[in-house]
Amino acid sequence: MVARIIPVEPFDLVIFGGTGDLARRKILPGLYRRLADGQMPPEARVIGAARSDMDDAAFRALVGEALEEFLPDNAKDPERIAEFLELLSYVRVDATGEDGWAALKEHIREGTVHAFYFSVGPSLFGPIAERLKSQGIADDKSRIVVEKPFGKDLQTARALNESLACHFDETQIYRIDHYLGKETVQNLMAVRFGNMLFEPLWNSRYVDHIQITVAETVGVGGRGEYYDRSGAMRDMVQNHLLQLLCLIAMEPPGRFEDESVRDEKLKVIRALKPVAPEDIVRGQYADGDEPGYKSAVNNPSSKTESFIALRLGIANWRWSGTPFYLRTGKRLKARASEIAVVFKDAPHSIFDGPPGQSNVLSIRLQPNEGMEMVVTIKEPGPGGMRLIQVPLDMSFADALGEQAEDIPDAYERLIMDVIRGNQTLFMRGDEVEAAWAWTDPVIEGWEDRGATPSPYEQGSTGPEEALMLLHQDGRRWREIKA
Ligand code: NAP
Repeated sequence: MVARIIPVEPFDLVIFGGTGDLARRKILPGLYRRLADGQMPPEARVIGAARSDMDDAAFRALVGEALEEFLPDNAKDPERIAEFLELLSYVRVDATGEDGWAALKEHIREGTVHAFYFSVGPSLFGPIAERLKSQGIADDKSRIVVEKPFGKDLQTARALNESLACHFDETQIYRIDHYLGKETVQNLMAVRFGNMLFEPLWNSRYVDHIQITVAETVGVGGRGEYYDRSGAMRDMVQNHLLQLLCLIAMEPPGRFEDESVRDEKLKVIRALKPVAPEDIVRGQYADGDEPGYKSAVNNPSSKTESFIALRLGIANWRWSGTPFYLRTGKRLKARASEIAVVFKDAPHSIFDGPPGQSNVLSIRLQPNEGMEMVVTIKEPGPGGMRLIQVPLDMSFADALGEQAEDIPDAYERLIMDVIRGNQTLFMRGDEVEAAWAWTDPVIEGWEDRGATPSPYEQGSTGPEEALMLLHQDGRRWREIKA
């Protein structure tokens, strides 16, 4: 099977923060891969913009080093890399000053799609948007791509939305949540809405509960100061985990298109029930192989969580009574992200012996993207009617062979969507605000109670209390395994 690559229109993409970590690790290697695959046309141009003093040659050298460092060896084709570097240029511009904007305008060509990627801190989003318009660089057809974090609460998110809305229409604003660009996440929608098999069972009558786990092995790394002001709830749950929950829980949209999908996701966020204190477990990794959380963020009295587990409910007909368990954390046992839909047991067992266990549909986001359906079958052989659970495993690598190796990274897929003008996998302003409107009282609640996170061992599955959250309900978390 060979994937069909349809080239996008020629474009000019300006990356504000083109010399930064995200640009070097994800955006530029992603663009290179799209060029190598034939999706990015050779007429496209990529313009790095930042304050550092460098010329085109120095920027190309910097990007060349980034490709060397961040691309897998089998993706490096010297000829293609040279071709890609030729498409790059650099403009020195300070987002908060007036210099450099006229030079940037010179780089933007008539008759191409214009996109501006704001790969800079959120405090620069407003100033860049303002200058792009006042300097006549962006027009009504231009697109802007905005990175996370989109605010730290409802008030700041609203202010950001307002500062962008002064200059750009909502249809021009692409708020990135790279989880939505993952192959499996889109496959989740294909499985739900492209098959007859699952959707009739996709409700509280047949689904016992749903688990969403995003586990990381890394600690806070060099982001300590930012992370300590944020924590797992703001950094992961408010955006990534809630977006996954929306896709699992939403009603079928009329069409797989921007507004229909985003309307349905918004309804889910608005139907989330308030969260009681007993439905929240927060943790902080203790000293271990690496310095513990408090040392890592250099704040001995920090009350910020590096782990959170939540029991959530959705107040609508489809999901009334079905718990959604979410957990995410740093320095855990394995790097693994998974959504698991755990179905109810068969209502009556006609077989002697222990009943079969529940069917589980698990959707793996990383590593080894794919899906697995656990079904009960008869144990082979003459031993009578003994039941066992076997996985029907659809790892993309196995099912799709070589094609799976070429699955685009989330960033590259999303950038191509920006060029195509497809907002389906981007968050709308009202969605982000609704997510903060739900998140804020949860955080305020624990701040008012002065709650402190429980310590947990590095390399574990989080604090004991997180296990209890499910045990109390007669359930258990799925194993965190790579
Ligand atoms: P970074 O490594 O600190 O890079 C920041 C970039 O912005 C640099 O290129 C810097 O270059 C430029 N810059 C800073 N101030 C500027 C100004 N006044 N005018 C013009 N350019 C300016 O940050 P990053 O990690 O790439 O993150 C960028 C954004 O992506 C942030 O919002 C971050 O939260 C988000 N994000 C990052 C990651 C990641 O993995 N890194 C993941 C998700 C989201 P000069 O100093 O030369 O100006």
